[in-house]
Amino acid sequence: MSDKLFNTIYGRGLVGELKNIVQRPYLVVTMEDLWEIFKDEFDEDAVVHFVKTLEYKEIMEELDVLPKFESVIGLGGGQAVDYAKMAAWKKHLPLYQMPTSIATNAVFGHRAGIRFDSNVRYVGYVEPIAVYIDYDVIQSGPIALNRSGVCDVFCYHNAAFDWKYAAEKGKCEAKWPYDAELSAKALAVKDSVVAAIDDVYAMNEKGIRTLVEGLRWGGGAFHNAGWNPRHIEGTDHFLFYTLEYMTKKKFIHGLPVCLGIFTGSLMQGNDPDGILDLIYRAGVDIRPENMGLTWDEVFAALKFEREYVKQAGLWYTIANDFIVDDAFCNLVKDKIMAKYGTQTA
Ligand SMILES: [Zn+2]
Repeated sequence: MSDKLFNTIYGRGLVGELKNIVQRPYLVVTMEDLWEIFKDEFDEDAVVHFVKTLEYKEIMEELDVLPKFESVIGLGGGQAVDYAKMAAWKKHLPLYQMPTSIATNAVFGHRAGIRFDSNVRYVGYVEPIAVYIDYDVIQSGPIALNRSGVCDVFCYHNAAFDWKYAAEKGKCEAKWPYDAELSAKALAVKDSVVAAIDDVYAMNEKGIRTLVEGLRWGGGAFHNAGWNPRHIEGTDHFLFYTLEYMTKKKFIHGLPVCLGIFTGSLMQGNDPDGILDLIYRAGVDIRPENMGLTWDEVFAALKFEREYVKQAGLWYTIANDFIVDDAFCNLVKDKIMAKYGTQTA
């Protein structure tokens, strides 16, 4: 099975080159604060859209009243690149992606995470002409946000275990039979990021490139495996979904996901101390207060996760069976506090 991944280009001064390569007139999908920083790199008559919603119906209505454009540029984080996908998809136009952060693998996935009456669904299909990673742009962004992007690579650690676990229990979905080779491939990608962990922490060129290559592989992996997420996602993301459902709070993706990577590994008995150390060394602070949560909210989510994965119809993992009790919750807290200390960064 060959991996088909998005064309990705690394360099500097890449934002200013966009106006020279895209079809005109062009649409720039971005956020207001980012436009203030980058507007001088574009033409004065560029069609600009600031993302305010990811509701499918609203996006479709907005696209219909924009001035005419012949190509789409996504400039920003997950919301801008997902909206840009929908614009390119709806209008059958070429897409050029310029992520300003590397906090998730969103820019490397074919589908967009769009809301239908507030419920997320991954829809559409677009292959960008290119994804441009500008070292200066990434390095001038919030470093903690970019470091948190390790979540979408470290999660392969849990996914590999969960897939094998489900197979051994005879609970694996018929359409996704366990594939040891595919799991090994994901783990090798994770290991490549682990090997560059100090560079990722420093967010130097090597760290950016290594992390982005890991995200790039994961972004294409869902499609490459026949829309199978088994080797790239499991308990790691499930705690995040549970927290989002219970608290209705908005999170920086990588914080609750990295928390879920640790708690999932602890349920699995799958080197929890080792993975906690890697999350710590990557510079991702998974203490609840760093994501606007209390320990009680985290404990409640851990206890409810088993119910949540069933009601949400998520694939079978250790979370289906593991009974979270007070002793487990206290162990999670003790290990995290022992690693990070009690001072908030
Ligand atoms: Zn993710």
